[in-house]
Amino acid sequence: MTEDFVNSPAVQTLLDRASGLDAEGGDKRLKAITRDLVEAVMKTIVRHDVTESEFWAAIQYFQNGAAEFGLIVPGVGLEHFIDLFMDAKDTEAGRTGGTPRTIEGPLYVAGAPLVEGDVNLSDDADDTGTLYMSGVIKGPDGEPVNGAILHVWHANSQGWYSHFDPTGEQTPFNNRRRIRIGGDGRYAFHSKMPNGYSVPPGGATDRLMQALGRHGNRPAHVHFFIEAPGYRMLTTQINFGDDPFAADDFAFGTREGLLPVPNRQGDTATIAFDFELQKADASSEEAFSARARAVA
Ligand code: FE
Repeated sequence: MTEDFVNSPAVQTLLDRASGLDAEGGDKRLKAITRDLVEAVMKTIVRHDVTESEFWAAIQYFQNGAAEFGLIVPGVGLEHFIDLFMDAKDTEAGRTGGTPRTIEGPLYVAGAPLVEGDVNLSDDADDTGTLYMSGVIKGPDGEPVNGAILHVWHANSQGWYSHFDPTGEQTPFNNRRRIRIGGDGRYAFHSKMPNGYSVPPGGATDRLMQALGRHGNRPAHVHFFIEAPGYRMLTTQINFGDDPFAADDFAFGTREGLLPVPNRQGDTATIAFDFELQKADASSEEAFSARARAVA
């Protein structure tokens, strides 16, 4: 059978009714998106002759894996796709330049201590070296950005993030800070060196990756948000360019321009990295996206 089956009057009528097209109330945009999404699932079912048992196994996978959606979404490339889509729309609108955006991931926590100066991110002891990172936050003309807040968060040497550490051993906001940047645009911090990590073994993401013949590893990396008056909010991260997974990130978060190779000496690693922000066209662009985030 071909996908034409989905175009049959019975199925098309079903789609119209299921998405509320013939109903008075409801949200028009949501109706249209729901219809297209369900139709795409139907076409996939027909194209691959998905059996009833396979269909219910998939539904159960999503039900049981709900807690890991924040990892499944980057794992299947959708979070990176959203970045590519926003990039393409920017290009179309003639908006180029600046530090590339890349995925946020699910592990930001709002409310980290707001600090200034040369900052230590790490509250807890950790059996790892020290990372030193510094640079300038600039605008499109090379001007230092005034009044920026740099949000930074990363994992510990075991690949765990504070607030999400199953060992329960990390102090809240360990390796998390908001750094208030002065008029010179300069930032500097040091911390206990992060390591890469894998998705939880045996979890929904891991099982999907294994079934796809893939792995669930990320290289060592540091996450950032940068917000500043008059500039576009930037969501990005740097991944260590010398990490074995630098070119094979399961989450597709590594991007050209975001892979600095640390200068390693003994057990210290130094990264010099300047950020370049785009000007905001509207005040809404200065704000965070509406994603639900943990608050502590
Ligand atoms: Fe991360």
